[in-house]
Formats: sequence, C-alpha cells, structure tokens
Amino acid sequence: MERIDVGVLGATGMVGTRLVRLLEDHPWFRLREVGASGRSRGQPLGRLVADDEGGPLWNGAADMPVKSADDQYSSPILLSALPSDIARELEPRLAKAGHLVVSNASSHRMDPDVPLIIPEVNPDHIALAHSQIERTGGAIVTNPNCVVVGIAMVFHPLHEAFDLEHAVVTTFQAISGAGRSGPSAGDLFDNVLPFIDGEEDKLGNEVRKILGQSTKTGFENAAMRVSATCARVGVAHGHLASISLKFRHPPQVDEARDVLNSFRGGVLQDGLPGSPVHPIEVLEGNNRPQPRLDRDRGDGMTVTVGRIRPCEVHHLKMFVLSHNLVRGAAGAALLNAELCHARGLTARSAKG
Ligand code: NAP
Repeated sequence: MERIDVGVLGATGMVGTRLVRLLEDHPWFRLREVGASGRSRGQPLGRLVADDEGGPLWNGAADMPVKSADDQYSSPILLSALPSDIARELEPRLAKAGHLVVSNASSHRMDPDVPLIIPEVNPDHIALAHSQIERTGGAIVTNPNCVVVGIAMVFHPLHEAFDLEHAVVTTFQAISGAGRSGPSAGDLFDNVLPFIDGEEDKLGNEVRKILGQSTKTGFENAAMRVSATCARVGVAHGHLASISLKFRHPPQVDEARDVLNSFRGGVLQDGLPGSPVHPIEVLEGNNRPQPRLDRDRGDGMTVTVGRIRPCEVHHLKMFVLSHNLVRGAAGAALLNAELCHARGLTARSAKG
C-alpha cells in the first residue's frame, strides 16, 4: 500500500515531538513536512525537539527543515499540535486549502460541524466532517483535551450499560500536560497547583459532546452533569482522575469491572494500526493505577482503572489514568487520522 504524506504542525513542542516519533515506520503514513513558529523556521527539526524521552529523533525526521505557519504545505493530512490561539485562525485556513487537519488544539472542538472523536467511543461522529468537506474541500477533526480522553472512555461503556446520570471528577494532572510554557518541575516540587485555567469547563462540555448522538432533529449532546475539579501535580506524564458516579441503573462493583475489562470499542473492524488491544484495563490491588507504573500500558494508549468500589454518596467510585501525551494527545490524533483514512475522508478531501 502506498503511504500517504502527512505533516506535523507544532512539531517542536511536547505533543508535536511525540507525533513525529510515532510516525517513524508508520504503515499508512509518511512524514513529509514539519512546521512550527517563525522562530524555528529553516532549522533542522532534530535540533529543536521538546520531548527528551526516547533520545534523538529518527533519521529523516531529524534533518527535516522546519516550516513556518506562512509556508505552503502539500500533505493531504496535517496533524496539528499548535497552541489554540494559533490554531483558531490557521486550522480553518488549511482546511479551506483542502487539507484534512487532525487537531489536538481546543479552538474548534466544540464547533457544531467539527467531530470530537475517540475512535473506540464515537467513530460515527466522523460524519460531521462531511459537511465541512462539501463546503470547503477540507475538514478539521479533533481529539479531546488530554484529561477528558481517559474519563470519556471509561464513562462510555458504563453509560451504555447502566445509564450514567452524573459524575464528580477530581484530577491530578501531569506537568507535561501544560506544554513547554507550563509550570516548571520546581513550581511543583513539594506542591500542588489547585487550578488549571479553562480545564474544568472543558471536561463537562467535551464529555457531553463525545457521548452525544445524531438524531432526526440534529446532533444532541449527552445530558449528564459533570462536576470537575482539576489540579496540577509534580508528575512528569500521566493524568490521574478520581471519579464518583451516579447511575439510573446502578451496577455492582463486579458488573462495572466486567463491562470495563471487556470493552473493545467500535473500530475493531477498521484495523487501525494504533488501536491498542485493550483500550481499558482494570488493575487489581489498592495501590493502582500509578502514573509511573501504568501510563505506558498498551504503548501509552491503554487507559487504566483501579480501586472500583461503592461510593457512600453516589453509586461507584474509582481511579482512572491515561498518558496525556500519547492517549491524550499525539496517539489520539494519530488514531483519529487512521480512522479518517480508513473511513474514506482522506480520499474525499481536495488534497486527497
Ligand atoms: P508546546 O510544547 O508549547 O508546543 C507548541 C508548538 O507550537 C511548538 O512547536 C511551537 O513552535 C508551535 N508554535 C508556537 N507559536 C506558533 C506560531 N505562531 N505559529 C506556528 N507554530 C507555533 O505545546 P504542546 O503541549 O505540545 O501542545 C500543543 C497543542 O496540543 C496545544 O493546543 C495543547 O492545548 C494541545 N494538547 C496538549 C496536550 C499535552 O499533554 N501537552 C494534550 C492534549 C492537547 P516553536 O518551537 O517554534 O515555538
């Protein structure tokens, strides 16, 4: 199979560097071009990478000269890891030029015709992008905020089985989730920051869109209420969340565990190269999941759950962990690009 050219925008950042690493030897996609700000323009990417895990970049990517936002891009698929203020204006411009823009940024996630996708959860929402392609020749497809992915993945099978009414969520989020301009490890040593700007609203809004459905009268968000409290902690990678859930048909602990462990998601038939065998894994023992021990399960694409137990106020409570840079960002975008390609979106776009 001939591989499709892709570009990575924001390639010098935390998420962009991970994307470039994940594209080495990808069976469907070939990294063709990389972009960042004007500050990086013309320099070889290998000199500028932000993510020091994984050592030097692979040959080919390391020598690639970095383009700026104003340069021309030729690849049918552009994977965007741009800051949201830049993405707000640039991504629609690139979509209008016929590219399929698969984005990590928050700027367009809640736009009515922009799909907000977790392939295992709501792959059919990709149909929302068809109206964009018909209008402009290209489209923007997004993945959720880094802490939302794991939580929405756990809510989805539980909601299908037991009808989730509302949730109370408290997060313990890693330093790398804030990108290079976030707080330093020094700010977080011996400390917890009890506020992450915009995160708590995103959590409820994005979960409701992801678990929403197309109806005869249009797209309807899920109705559940989510009360979120988000904090930054001194962990390098991996967002942990404590969740407490109220259901209309409350399950026993064992029933919830079985539903989560047996979840495979709605994309098995698509054969996506980045799909983990187990999208969710429930861990035994009272001291799991832990970021350092569990974030890399399934190459960082498996969401881990632990301490499922009865809740004194609602019905059940548990911990959920996901790797913010992989399942929450780079791996999520790459899986979305694979889904778009498997479902024919690349071929329909003007550049495809
Ligand atoms: P980051 O480390 O700060 O990287 C930002 C990237 O954007 C760099 O490559 C930077 O290039 C580039 N950039 C900055 N200004 C630009 C401009 N004017 N034109 C073109 N490129 C520009 O940020 P990040 O953590 O990787 O996050 C990237 C995006 O993903 C953000 O929208 C973020 O909200 C989202 N996201 C992040 C995570 C996470 O865990 N970090 C998870 C999910 C989603 P230079 O090197 O040239 O400055």
